[in-house]
Amino acid sequence: MSNYKICEYCGKQLETQNIEALGHKFTHTVECECYIARREAETQENIKCGCEIIRAKMRELSGIPNRYIKPELCYFRPKPGQENALSAAQKFIEAWREVHGNNQTGLIFAGSVGCGKTMLASAIANDVIQYANISVSEAEHSGQFGCPQSYVSPPVLFVSTVELMERIRATYNPVQGSERPQTAQDILSKYKRVPVLVLDDLGAEKSTE
Ligand SMILES: [Zn+2]
Repeated sequence: MSNYKICEYCGKQLETQNIEALGHKFTHTVECECYIARREAETQENIKCGCEIIRAKMRELSGIPNRYIKPELCYFRPKPGQENALSAAQKFIEAWREVHGNNQTGLIFAGSVGCGKTMLASAIANDVIQYANISVSEAEHSGQFGCPQSYVSPPVLFVSTVELMERIRATYNPVQGSERPQTAQDILSKYKRVPVLVLDDLGAEKSTE
């Protein structure tokens, strides 16, 4: 009977090591290089896939409008008149990446309806998600087992100011019979904590009053 093992994947004869411990002799079969490489490739694939899953979940939870969920700044083609706004957006993202989301600056885009403010703000939000730090262990775990919603907090939230005001206004007349009516603080708390907040249509809430 042969006392060596062969790799079940590539058929190579595997090295063995004799180990002596606690007065016993053991034969330890060294893992095949092909197996180690295969496992490493699987880990890398899980990490890559997990990052995508987490980013997709961040996009879903961020509130970025569905029609603008994909394009990042690098795909933004400025129309005449948008060049300055685009360059300000790029500077904002560069600064954001340099300080890992700790910059305290903000940006306001002003302009008429349909001039591209929402689209540009969405592109910034998409960049924030694209460059978000995701830990290797979280990514690997998500790549292997999927990613529960409670696990992800998006680094950017996108909200329509009109809609936000309506939700706050609704708390003034709480639904009768609900155990603990939602307060304005409840609604605002998640927007206070988020690193980047996009307020769409700021000022438009006044015209709906
Ligand atoms: Zn092998």
